[in-house]
Order: sequence, then C-alpha cells, then structure tokens
Amino acid sequence: MAIFGTGIVKDVRNFKSMTERDIIGIFGTMNAGKSSLMNLITQQESSIVDATPGTTADTRITMMELHGIGPVKLMDTAGFDELRNLGDKKRKKVSAALKECDLVLVVIDPASPGLPTVKLLLEEALSEEKQILIVYNLFASADEIKIDLCEKNLPLLNQFQQIRISALKPENRSALLEFLLQHYIPKNNPTQLLPFVEQDEFYILNIPMDEETPPGRYLRPQAMAEEYITRNWGFPVSYRMNLGKARSGDPSEKARWESFLGSFGRRPKVIITDSQAMDIMKSWSPEDIGLTTFSIMMINYMSRGKLAEFANAVKTVDTLNPGNTIMIAEACNHSRIKEDIGTVQIPNVINKQFPGVHVKHIFGREWPETEELKSVRLVIHCGGCMITPQRMAARLRDLGKLQIPVTNYGIFLSYVQGKEVLGKVLEPWKITTL
Ligand code: SF4
Repeated sequence: MAIFGTGIVKDVRNFKSMTERDIIGIFGTMNAGKSSLMNLITQQESSIVDATPGTTADTRITMMELHGIGPVKLMDTAGFDELRNLGDKKRKKVSAALKECDLVLVVIDPASPGLPTVKLLLEEALSEEKQILIVYNLFASADEIKIDLCEKNLPLLNQFQQIRISALKPENRSALLEFLLQHYIPKNNPTQLLPFVEQDEFYILNIPMDEETPPGRYLRPQAMAEEYITRNWGFPVSYRMNLGKARSGDPSEKARWESFLGSFGRRPKVIITDSQAMDIMKSWSPEDIGLTTFSIMMINYMSRGKLAEFANAVKTVDTLNPGNTIMIAEACNHSRIKEDIGTVQIPNVINKQFPGVHVKHIFGREWPETEELKSVRLVIHCGGCMITPQRMAARLRDLGKLQIPVTNYGIFLSYVQGKEVLGKVLEPWKITTL
C-alpha cells in the first residue's frame, strides 16, 4: 500500500494557539553566565545567579513575549559539564531540553571557556539540526581578547553568529534582542488543525465519554476541534455515543445515532470520532459523510503535517513476527481505568491479531534512550497533544535515525478494521491509500 499526501494550504494567521511558542534554550558550561543571560532577557530574577558551580539544578522555564518573535518559552539549563552528584541525570535533562529547542544559545565565558564541553554541546546541537547562536559573556572587558584564542582552539565556533556582551549589565538587553531578531529564523509554523473545514457546514464530534473522561471539560483535542470549527464559521455538533450499548448490539443505540443524523437540515460534512469507536464507526458512518478521528487530527497537527508518514508506517504491522516489540507512546499521564485505549484496548488488538508480539509503554514526557529504542519494531503514538510540537519533532528525529516506523492510535485502530476503513479516515486529509 503506497500513500500519497497533498499539502492543503489555508490561512493560519488566526490559528497560532496560546500554546504555540518558539523555544529558546540557554546552554553552556557551569558558571558561563547562563542564568544572567536568562535574567537579562526576562528583565527579572527568573534564574538564581550565584558563583557556586551548578546553581541551576534543573531546567528553569519562563514564558514570555519577545517583540518581533512572538510568544517564546525560554529555558535556562544546568551546566553541560556538570557530572557530580546527580550530574548524569541532569545531563540527560539538558540533552532533552536541547532536542526540544528551536534556537540554542550557547553562552561562553572567554576567560574560562571549557572548550571540550562547548565542542560536545555544539556537536550535539548540530546533530539535532538546531539553529545555534553564540553569546560571549564578558565578566571583564579584558576578557574580549581571549575570544580569538577560543576560536583558534575550537574553529567550529567560527561557523556561528556571535555577540559579545556582559550579561550582567541591563543596558545590553536591547543589543541582545536585536542580535536575536537579526539572526534567528523562526521555523515553528503551525499546521491547520482541520484543513477541510468549510464555512456554514456541520461537523460531528463523536465523544463517547467514559469513566476516564474528566468532568467539567473536553479533552484537549476535542476542545481544539470545537474551537477551530467555530472559529472558521462551521458548526460543530457533539454526540455522546454509548459505546457499551453499541458494542452489545443494543438496537436502541443505533436508532438513536440514526435519528441524530437524520435531524440535520442538510448532511454533515465530516464525523470526527474518538479513535476507540472505530469498531462501531466503520459500519455506522454513512458513505456520504466523511470520517476521521481526533487522534489523526492531533498527530497531523503536532507533527506539523506529517500524517502521510504516520499512515505509511502502519503497514509495518503486516511484517511483525512473534518476539517483535511495539512501543505504545502516550503523551499524557492521566489515571488509567478499565478500558483505557493505550493500556487495554490497543494491547488487546495486538494480542489478538499479532500473537507473540510484545507491547511496551511510554507515558507522559518520558522518552527512552537510543539503546532502549533499538529493540522496538514499531511505535504507535497517541495524538501527542500534551507535548510540544518541538518535542514531537525530537521524538520523530530519534526514531528516524534508527529507522523505526511510527504510526498513530487512530491510524492503527482504523487499519485493523480494514484497509478501506483506513482509506476512509484519510480521505478528508486528501491522503489516498492504494
Ligand atoms: S496526550 Fe495523547 S492520549 Fe493524552 S489527550 Fe492528548 S492525544 Fe489523547
């Protein structure tokens, strides 16, 4: 089965959600002045500044608006060279932060540059394809002459744009911001959440609430879909399907669904369903109404439009052998009850359709080291709404380097219902399967 995607372009100016931020990370050796730089940018003591090595125990985060760049998440990280006490753990956190950044600011004190560490840091940032800018932090003006020696001993430094300032002097803030504006190229462009939505058309949100559904609010993908459709002048209509009744074959649930569908003045355009209802929706969704899932919508959005790749990867299930491992990655840490999709429903399908295949779980923001990933044959990822698009990109980069295919809850649960079912849920996205 080959899958082809077509790009769908729509005006996205109104849809940079509150959570869409460029991520700028401040990195360097211990005591290079990373926290001072953070404080200079934020104009406040968001980070503790102290001469004691290792003062920044963990990554400190500040959300702010930077004129000319927009909303940003600033991360002040622990020293890249810190190996004492919990050093190795910290180092992993710093590496995780680096993977997530759009821009890596490397702070160097020319009087004490720690070049072997800076080299490691630059190499890691380059291997993650990050934009890099260098900030030489001058604790004394005489330190400037030591920069030449740094660049002579580590010629790699010459590849990047640099600024020379004292991060302790508030008057240097505007020069620093000007430097960022001049040299940072934002690439964090949001994708349309539901590019097929049209004005004055109905869209059904099928939300079968269960014991895991939090009271008082929709889940984030559901709320985002409703907001997006409304913002784009469409009509979102929610339906609570009783999955228990539907699965038991109780005719009253089917009759209720059909009466709901029949109550519109004109046919709804697309049904967006919870992925776990695909076993019902494959036969209950009418041919003349489109169908897709919240999970498919979300993974396309969080991966910045890579839905075709997730769809292609699902073919891997046909090549699985007993003893292979599937990793189910769920980006939220909610308490899991009874029929949880990630821990119960998908593993049940795997056990039934692919006997002998092992299932491994990853929850929340945790992500395995390369060595641990090597044993995985396929990843099935949820929509990923609780992590940033940048973190999703870092995950995809990790998996890409190891050539591990990654598909998605909604795609997998549709595919196991039949190739034609997968074809149907991809249709609204103009992705065709053969
Ligand atoms: S993080 Fe994943 S499982 Fe949790 S609500 Fe978002 S899409 Fe669903």
